[in-house]
Amino acid sequence: MPDCLFCAIATGDIPATIVLDGKRTIAFRDISPQAPTHVLVIPRDHFADVAALAGAGDGLLEELVSQAHRVAVAEGIDGSGYRIVFNTGREGGQTVSHAHAHVLGGRPMTWPPG
Ligand code: AMP
Ligand code: ZN
Repeated sequence: MPDCLFCAIATGDIPATIVLDGKRTIAFRDISPQAPTHVLVIPRDHFADVAALAGAGDGLLEELVSQAHRVAVAEGIDGSGYRIVFNTGREGGQTVSHAHAHVLGGRPMTWPPG
C-alpha cells in the first residue's frame, strides 16, 4: 500500500527497532512508548484494521496474537501480565491505518483506559 507508514517499516524502507521478525508478522518498538514495554505487532501485508485482518481468515490474526505473546515472553513480562490492544477507527484511537496490536506491560495497566 503506497504511503503506508507500517508497510514501509515492514519492508525496511523506514527504520524501526525490531523486536521479533516473523515470516508474516513483524514486531517493533513504538516510537512513543506508553509503558516500559510498548511494542507494535503488524502483519507484513497491508490490512486497514483488525477487522479486515480477521476477514482474511487464513490464521494470520491468530499468528499475530501468538507473536504478541512471544514479544511478552522476550520482554520478560509474560509472568507479570500485559495488555494487547487493537485501536480501531477514529473513536477507537487508531491513527495508523495498517492493522497493529499494541503490546503493553512492565507496569500495572489501569482500567478503563483514558
Ligand atoms: P494507533 O494510534 O493505535 O493507530 O497506534 C499507532 C502507533 O504507532 C502510536 O502508538 C505511535 O506512537 C506509533 N508510531 C507512529 N509512528 C511510528 C514509527 N515511525 N515507529 C514506531 N511507532 C510509530
Ligand atoms: Zn500498510
